[in-house]
Amino acid sequence: MSEKYDLLVIGGGSGGLAHAQRAAEYGARAAVVEHGPLGGTCVNVGCVPKKVMWYAAHYAHQLHHAKDYGYDINTRGHDWGALKTRRDAYVKRLNGIYGRNLAKREVSYIAGNARFIDAHTVDVDGRRFEADRIVIATGGRPMVPDIEGAELGITSDGFFELNEQPKRVIVVGSGYIAVELAGIFNGLGTETQLLVRKDAILRDFDAMLGTALMREMRASGIALTTGAIPAAVRKEAAGLVLTAEDGREFGPVDTVIWAIGRAPNTATLDLANAGVVTDEGGFVTTDELQQTNVDNINALGDVTGRAALTPVAIAAGRRLADRLYGGMADRYLDYRLIPTVVFSHPTIGTVGMTEAEARSEYGEDVRIYSSEFTPMFYALGTDKKSTAMKLITAGHEERVVGLHLFGDGADEMLQGFAVAMRMGATKKDFDDTVAIHPTSAEEVVTMR
Ligand code: FAD
Ligand code: NDP
Repeated sequence: MSEKYDLLVIGGGSGGLAHAQRAAEYGARAAVVEHGPLGGTCVNVGCVPKKVMWYAAHYAHQLHHAKDYGYDINTRGHDWGALKTRRDAYVKRLNGIYGRNLAKREVSYIAGNARFIDAHTVDVDGRRFEADRIVIATGGRPMVPDIEGAELGITSDGFFELNEQPKRVIVVGSGYIAVELAGIFNGLGTETQLLVRKDAILRDFDAMLGTALMREMRASGIALTTGAIPAAVRKEAAGLVLTAEDGREFGPVDTVIWAIGRAPNTATLDLANAGVVTDEGGFVTTDELQQTNVDNINALGDVTGRAALTPVAIAAGRRLADRLYGGMADRYLDYRLIPTVVFSHPTIGTVGMTEAEARSEYGEDVRIYSSEFTPMFYALGTDKKSTAMKLITAGHEERVVGLHLFGDGADEMLQGFAVAMRMGATKKDFDDTVAIHPTSAEEVVTMR
């Protein structure tokens, strides 16, 4: 006999938990199947432990500038192992909180590996569960290149398992994870190389951001090489050596990290048994209502291949529950104007169109405002870092369609401006807003 639910969610990560809990609040009899620790990627091997490591590296930057402010500081080094112990304990506490939150809302937690039997039935390690509706929220996992010796490297998952700080590291990739991990290592004193296969990092972002961050990374000591396509890794007595397709060799280093993108967790779900369609990359195909091609099956979060960010998965999950169980027939997630931050050193905050996108959509009707300056924090020292901003408007009313920030505090600066842009703010609205002085953020409302 199989157990029966109104809703069965596969995946207890950001999106799955948010959806199941919201549905249960509306009265649905819900269950979540999870084969790993609760919380998924973000809590266990993503945003949360990453931000802890970012704080640690940020601390090193602050310590470096402490003398500018009269401090005579002598640190006796940094204890990576101690930090990891505290970080792991924090993550464990969060796992417990997630479990208790499910219990509080009477959502059943089924531990194990789910696969479809048919569109209404799921097998979890030999147990059968039936549900009126099934939601796929299985997230993704890091990819590894198909080259000789790739297994000698680790991924972001392995990064969080490192008990000791590598002295020398190569990070391969050019997206969020590559630049974030390179910044963390460099900040904490690891000799860091970043290998980028094309001519720039963060190529999906406004070009100003990648250019500014590459300059800053190099200035802060990261050996950043462009045009390096990995061909093989080998182990030598002195460490790992990476060979590029053009024959250049990098290393030896203690650790090679692949940060070249993520693949969806769909291969073992037996989606064909339920008739669920995926795209070429294995991502579950959904429409704007998070609906798959099968009536009673939805999908959300990273597994759908759209804006792989935690708040996106959560928002998609909650809105889907609002629509299906909360009587809000028109509720769905609008994927436009999603703000996002790259936790590099310094940070990047970006929302809306890049300059290239705006020009291709609005042609001549685009105006660009930009600014580059040294934040006041660096006024008393000699090691100065810059901040760069770009604001993009469209149309005669000059609606703000893109905002791109690079520099200290960009991560905390962006959220409120994203609200304004969702509300349709124009350049005049920005101009009419009184600045907050002295801050870097004031530049956003004073650009001319
Ligand atoms: P996940 O959180 O991945 O959850 C999916 C869950 O499904 C997992 O727990 C998995 O174990 C489970 N599962 C998979 N298959 C099965 C199965 N067959 N049976 C049972 N369970 C299964 N986003 C941000 O917004 N900010 C950040 O700063 C940020 N930093 C990141 C740093 C790193 C290193 C990484 C890797 C990601 C980061 N992200 C960040 C992205 C963020 O973690 C994801 O977008 C988010 O976790 C997606 O949520 P999800 O619910 O779609 O999937
Ligand atoms: P991304 O997709 O952001 O970047 C990976 C990049 O690596 C590709 O775009 C590509 O860039 C490059 N690449 C691909 N294949 C190879 C290869 N074989 N060799 C060398 N380089 C290669 O993936 P990430 O893994 O960095 O992150 C996955 C997602 O997780 C992000 O897109 C983001 O949505 C989310 N995330 C969010 C964070 C945040 O919010 N702060 C932090 C971390 C992750 P190119 O074509 O330019 O070479």
